Amino acid sequence: MKYNRIYNFSAGPAMMPEEVLEEIAAEMMNYHGSGMSVMEMSHRSDTFQTILNQTEESLRQLMHIPDTYEVLFIQGGGTLQFAMVPMNLMKNGVACYVETGAWSQKAIREARKYGDVRVIASSADRNFTYIPDCSDLDIPDNADYVYICENETINGTTYSRLPNTKGKILVSDQSSMFLSRPCNVEDYGLIWAGLQKNVGPAGMAVVIIRRDLLREDLPTFVPTYLNYKTHADAGSLYNTPNCWAIYCCGKVCRHLLKNGGLEVMDARNREKAALLYDFLDKSRFFTCAVEPQDRSLMNVPFFTPSPAQDAEVVAAAKAAGFENLKGHKSVGGLRASIYNAMPREGVEALVNFLRMTEASFQ
Ligand SMILES: *Cc1c(COP(=O)(O)O)cnc(C)c1O
Repeated sequence: MKYNRIYNFSAGPAMMPEEVLEEIAAEMMNYHGSGMSVMEMSHRSDTFQTILNQTEESLRQLMHIPDTYEVLFIQGGGTLQFAMVPMNLMKNGVACYVETGAWSQKAIREARKYGDVRVIASSADRNFTYIPDCSDLDIPDNADYVYICENETINGTTYSRLPNTKGKILVSDQSSMFLSRPCNVEDYGLIWAGLQKNVGPAGMAVVIIRRDLLREDLPTFVPTYLNYKTHADAGSLYNTPNCWAIYCCGKVCRHLLKNGGLEVMDARNREKAALLYDFLDKSRFFTCAVEPQDRSLMNVPFFTPSPAQDAEVVAAAKAAGFENLKGHKSVGGLRASIYNAMPREGVEALVNFLRMTEASFQ
C-alpha cells in the first residue's frame, strides 16, 4: 500500500476515499492559484463562494434534490439538530418519534425540552435489534412531524421501508447512511446528516429542508443562529462556516458522481455488507443479533460467545491492521462500520481475518 494506511472500521470520523485525500493534499499549499489553502481563505471571497456553490450543486445532482428544498450547511455537528428540529418545526408543540436505538433516544430526550413528544413505536423491548412496524401508527392530528433515525449507527439497524406518516412531514436523521444509497428527497420534509460518518470531516451537518417549512415566527427563545431560515437567507454564510468541511464534502460528492452516483454506491454497499453478514450467519463462533430484514448496510454489530473473547478479537484485529472494531459500550461486542469509502477488499480482508480467528478459538 502506497501510504501504509490501514482499514479503519470506525463509526465516525471514518475513512474518506483515498483519491479525495490525494486531491486535497495536492491543493493544500496553493488552491487553484489562489496562493493559499482553503483553510486560510476568506469565506467571503469569490474563490470560496465558488467552492460552496459547487458543493451544493454536486449534492443536488447526486441526490436529485428538487428546487423546492433548501440545502444548508450548519455547524454543531449532528447533535445540534436534535434541538434545531423541534425548535423550528414544532408549531403545535406536538411531535411523534420512533425509538429505534441510541440516536433516536438522544433526539427524543432533547425534543422533550421543547414540547410534547409522543413515542409512537419502539424496539426497546428487544434491545433495539429490529425496526418496529410503522405501517399504521397512532399519529395525533395535531402532530407537527414524525421523526426517525433512519440508520442507527450504534445498534446497526435501518429502515427497509419508510413509516406511513399519515400526511405528516417526515424528518430523518440520515447521518450514518447519507449518500450510501438513492434517496427520494420528496418523501421527507427535512433530512439532516452529520458529515463525519459517510462524507467528510466532523463538525458540520447538512440539512435538506422543504422551503415552506422555513419560518419567521419562531418563539423568541430560539437563538437567531438556530433558525433554519437564518441559514437559508444567508446562503449558509450567516457567520463563518466550516469552510474546510464544505470543501471536503464537495470533493466527496464529485467523487461519487464520477464513480456512478448513488445507485452504484448502493450496489457496492449491498455486496460489501452481504460478505460480512453471510460470514457471520454461517459462523459458529460469531453472531449478529439484528433481524435480517432490518440490518444496516453501514454499521454491523456482532458478538463472540463472551465479552472476554470480544476483547481478545478486537486486540488481535488491531495488531493485524483492522482498527476500531470495538463495539459501542452500550451494545458491547464488536462493530464494523463499512461506509462508502471502505473498499470491498477491506471487508474481504476482515472476513478472512475473522475466519482465521474463529478457527483459532475452536
Ligand atoms: C454520529 C451521529 C450523530 C451525532 O453526530 P455528532 O456530529 O457527533 O454530533 C447523530 N445521529 C447519528 C445517527 C449519528 O450516527
